[in-house]
Order: sequence, then C-alpha cells, then structure tokens
Amino acid sequence: MSVYKKILVAIDLTEEAPQVLEKAVEIGKQHDARLLLAHVVEPVGYAYGGDIPMDLSELQDQLDKAAREQLAAYGKQYGIPEDNQIVTVGRPESEIHHLSEDQGVDLVIVGSHGRRGIQLLLGSTANGVLHGAKCDVLALRIN
Ligand code: AMP
Repeated sequence: MSVYKKILVAIDLTEEAPQVLEKAVEIGKQHDARLLLAHVVEPVGYAYGGDIPMDLSELQDQLDKAAREQLAAYGKQYGIPEDNQIVTVGRPESEIHHLSEDQGVDLVIVGSHGRRGIQLLLGSTANGVLHGAKCDVLALRIN
C-alpha cells in the first residue's frame, strides 16, 4: 500500500534543484504517487520595500515566464507532465502551504542545507514550510 498518493516537490531553481528533484522523483515512483512540481516566484516589489515609483509588472512577468520555462525543462527531463507543474507568486513558505492544502497533497518535499545556530534561528524555507504544514514534510539534505 502506498502511504503517499500526492506529493509536492518545491524547488528554488538554483543549481541545487536537481538534487532535490532527483530524489523526489524516486520517492514518487516508490509510492506510485502523483508528483507535483512547484516553484514560487518572489514578488519583485518586496526587494525594494514595495514603495518605489516604478512599474515592475513587466519584470515580474519575465520572472514568471522564466520560471515556467525552467519548470517545463525539468518536467521534460524528469517526466513530470505540464499539468503537474505549478508556478505561483508570493512568499515561498506560505505559498507552499496554500498549494499543498489546495491540491490535497499528503507529502511536501523541500531541500535543506542543515544549517545550525544563528542561521537556523534566522530561518530557512524548509523550517518555514515545516511550521504550519498540514501534511508531512520531508526535508532532503542538500550537499
Ligand atoms: P532555502 O532555505 O532558501 O535554502 O531553500 C531550501 C529549499 O526550500 C529549496 O531546496 C526548495 O526545496 C525550497 N524553496 C526555496 N525557495 C523556493 C521557491 N522560491 N519556490 C519553491 N521552493 C523553494
């Protein structure tokens, strides 16, 4: 019997993403689960405190498009169909929570650098996802 039927893997589109993705695909296969691939594009306005008098919507659209293209490339490489690729805009932790609830996911997979001390206090995405998640969360150690 497969424990997990619907798994969401969240990736950040850095060079570390394939490490997370490769294991997530294997775990998905072992559970015969549907695997959703998600990336959250952070709103560009946030970086400037959100109050600069400039229209950033074009830049946001470009980031969104680039993320979709990158997910499509990973989807092709790892056999994840387009219907299972999701790009949203927002704060990664809260968007991952929303997505996992909306999609009825029973496992979320994220990467983790295994930081300690002050870096752990400052928080990581994996930590943020774990706190407040309504389903299981698997943090894969990134080397
Ligand atoms: P970080 O704590 O930012 O180093 O990220 C650790 C892990 O959180 C990554 O390996 C991804 O699994 C996930 N993550 C971080 N940022 C995003 C993002 N923008 N969209 C989706 N997942 C993310």
